[in-house]
Amino acid sequence: MPILNRAAELQEEVAGWRRHIHQKPELNFDVFETAAFVTEKLKEFGCDEVVTGIGKTGVVGIIRGGKGNGSTVGLRADMDALPITEITGKPYASQTPGKMHACGHDGHTAMLLGAAKYLAETRNFAGSVAVIFQPAEEGGGGGNEMVKDGMMDRFGIAKVFGMHNMPGLPVGQFAIRPGPIMAATAEFTITIKGRGGHAAMPHGTIDPIVIASQLVGALQTIASRNTDPVESVVVSVTKFHAGDAYNVIPETAEIAGTVRSLKKDVARKAEERLRQLCAGIAAAHGTTIEVDYDANYPVTFNHPEETVFSGDIAAEVAGDAQVQRTIQPVMGGEDFSYMLEARPGAFIFIGNGDSAGLHHPAYDFNDEVIPHGVSYWVKLAEKALAA
Ligand SMILES: [Zn+2]
Ligand SMILES: [Zn+2]
Repeated sequence: MPILNRAAELQEEVAGWRRHIHQKPELNFDVFETAAFVTEKLKEFGCDEVVTGIGKTGVVGIIRGGKGNGSTVGLRADMDALPITEITGKPYASQTPGKMHACGHDGHTAMLLGAAKYLAETRNFAGSVAVIFQPAEEGGGGGNEMVKDGMMDRFGIAKVFGMHNMPGLPVGQFAIRPGPIMAATAEFTITIKGRGGHAAMPHGTIDPIVIASQLVGALQTIASRNTDPVESVVVSVTKFHAGDAYNVIPETAEIAGTVRSLKKDVARKAEERLRQLCAGIAAAHGTTIEVDYDANYPVTFNHPEETVFSGDIAAEVAGDAQVQRTIQPVMGGEDFSYMLEARPGAFIFIGNGDSAGLHHPAYDFNDEVIPHGVSYWVKLAEKALAA
């Protein structure tokens, strides 16, 4: 069973919504206009309930099926953009310099609206569909805020499903895996407190640049020496700031970066080793090193049964050969992880074709993806809630 005819019919209208959202990118929780647009559409479609202000600016629409009582399935999209200046030159490009939809959340929102329109028209299922539109996926944890606001209990959501576009994966293809599909993320800032002085008299100083350099090398051993080689961890130092002059040893140095992993115990061990290395190197140099460590999004963990189910739905839409069911995990983070910690479900990738990469200023969501994504959502809802 390929793309639904009605989903194909909806493509132009959904692409129009997508381009409208694309022109007006909003960041983090400040997705006021986008949430208002989503709310207006959901009401226009005749959703039975439209609730705003969940997780600050999140929106949930409830569509009750026409085949009697049943459980509730949550379908989730994200609404926020990124602090990037767009260079696509498209007629519908961002109207706000410094902000753009470079992760395709405009497409995710529009496709879920398309599915909501279809499901509200046809209601060919038992129970209810909750269409979930969250703010602040790109840092801020909007998904977590919606869960903390009691969304799952309030609407009786039994299972949740998420979808993200993937550049490089051909249009019409899907990719998924059971277990960890995206990484847990953490950010660290390390401040080395040295003792500054004349560069020609280093023996009277504690040089924070030398100490920080040792630390950058030492941090590599978390992945290479402390982690089981068949497990995955990334420790990347992405900032290194110290000094202002040729002849001055500075007082302090600061390094910062990110840690990514696919398992809780690996994440815990990485943090523990990072702190131990800082303490040890500080002691070796007779100084202090401060560590600020923030664990962010947890691992996005696909539940096995729902992963098989999602893969089967994707195969119905795209054909079995177009669905990869055991892709490698992606070491990026994703805050749908919080919803998957609260309820069983699965997160799937949908091909965006040969586009620029996510978070690139030349990226654009591919409107050809729309009928595939809308069909996936509709079929998933109808099958999960079959009478
Ligand atoms: Zn992103
Ligand atoms: Zn994204």
